[in-house]
Amino acid sequence: MTTTVQERPVAPRVTPTAVTDQIAVRGPATGEELGSVPVFTADQVRDAIGVARKAQASWAKVAVTERARLVRKWRDHFLQRAEEIIDLLVRENGKTREEAILAEVSPPVMLMTYYAAKAPKFLRPRKRSSWGLSIYKSSTIHHVPLGVVGVISPWNYPCSIPMSDIVTAIVGGNGVALKPSEWTPLVALKLKEIFDDSGMPVDLFQVVTGYGPTGGALIEGGVDKITFTGSVAVGRRVAAACAERLLPCTLELGGKAPAVVLEDADVERAARAIVWGKFANCGQTCVAVERVYAVEAIHDRLLSRMTELVSLLRQGDPAAGEVDMGAMTMPRQIDVVDDLVRDAVARGARALTGGWRREGIGQFYPPTIVAECAQDMPIMHEEIFGPALPVMKVKDEEEAVRLANDSHLGLNAYVFGGNKARARRVAERLRAGTVVVNDVLVTYAFPELPFGGVKASGIGRVHGEEGLLAMCEKRVVTSDRFPVSLKRELWWHPYSRAFGDRMLGVLERLAHGLDTLGRL
Ligand code: NAD
Repeated sequence: MTTTVQERPVAPRVTPTAVTDQIAVRGPATGEELGSVPVFTADQVRDAIGVARKAQASWAKVAVTERARLVRKWRDHFLQRAEEIIDLLVRENGKTREEAILAEVSPPVMLMTYYAAKAPKFLRPRKRSSWGLSIYKSSTIHHVPLGVVGVISPWNYPCSIPMSDIVTAIVGGNGVALKPSEWTPLVALKLKEIFDDSGMPVDLFQVVTGYGPTGGALIEGGVDKITFTGSVAVGRRVAAACAERLLPCTLELGGKAPAVVLEDADVERAARAIVWGKFANCGQTCVAVERVYAVEAIHDRLLSRMTELVSLLRQGDPAAGEVDMGAMTMPRQIDVVDDLVRDAVARGARALTGGWRREGIGQFYPPTIVAECAQDMPIMHEEIFGPALPVMKVKDEEEAVRLANDSHLGLNAYVFGGNKARARRVAERLRAGTVVVNDVLVTYAFPELPFGGVKASGIGRVHGEEGLLAMCEKRVVTSDRFPVSLKRELWWHPYSRAFGDRMLGVLERLAHGLDTLGRL
């Protein structure tokens, strides 16, 4: 069975080329030069943070309801100019127009709408009831902006991923300095243009373009928090650099999402979901289906249907016509996919579709299903981040769960099953930040759900109440509850042995009394 691959003009595989202080950006489908951006020096990064900090001092004083009103205006302007963003995403990133709308434009619009509605509630000062020893105090938790948040982002979703951090930081009362990927900086500059034109404070959001060292300069440049999305390897370096400065950081790293397919699953839905969940965005998605464990009773039917569906996928330059798969953004990623597929085949797996790279014609790798995989093959545990789908037959649910959990990563996982209660029980046994039953990918687009990974997939969460509160400092203000205060609390100087001895007895009675109260 062959995959339909649209013919297109021969173009060399391209890399952004450094001209000392400039990055030349080329389209991955055509090789066309789209523009160039400067490489910010450490001093320039520091200056940009300073500019954002000045603007943030005023922004922090704006009431949350007014912030919400301005964020709605920003959203409306973003939507009005969505075609400009989509056009750049297609040309600079290589994805299809449909993927740009669904996965790049839609999540930020929903997030802006969500936070505009919910932020006044999430950020309100919250009274914490007194308890035990604090019975005579009254305490309130305030959520105060951090200052300037440094955002370091990858190339696979150059709009929705940084926008998620930018929106949350801004709603939280912060300024932002964004270091976009060197592969997709033009989209970031478009986001800034739209922000500045929307009526938001112009200097509040800065973009610093460049390579890894510019990201390093952002960490060193005086920001108050880092949110990093990218690979595990760079994430470790970012975490170490943040630790040196005791900077809080959120890390959104790699994924190796398993899809467990139980014997009672709906074959048609599971096959369609997995094919979309793998090959959307050419597999360059942190939550993409990265490995399939199909119980033997369903394995052959599933594999055969997935193979048919993959053979219908149309791949080509997304700017030139209607296709299901565009180009891969980064040439190095094609090497990763190709190496993993070749290695799996050399170890006994079979490529049922694709399985080879197209030399010399843009940055394309055909959708590839690799059957008869075994758990010890690198393709089953290293992140592929491209259009290859390894499939493995397993005996039963128990084996599927054990192998699905046998990974150093834990971002997303998927379960397919006809008995929903059973599928949910299986889902609860999978160790991942998010587990989805009978569906794929969608949760990043649900702004209310905290998103993030366990194990080496990251630290912290974005989205939801959790994501917004992570962009704020917690400030607890405690004061006396009653109008009259004593001149001296019993435990202040001077100390006495008698008081210490009495205190132990009081503690015991208090603890047991609180136990009884709790039980009542
Ligand atoms: P990457 O780690 O190579 O680069 C990410 C960003 O870090 C880029 O902007 C890069 O310039 C910058 N950078 C590189 N070295 C740096 C350094 N020493 N200090 C500071 N910044 C530095 O990742 P990538 O190739 O752009 O993205 C692909 C990876 O991102 C995949 O592993 C994917 O799973 C992961 N990802 C994770 C999520 C998530 O939400 N968990 C989402 C998308 C992508």
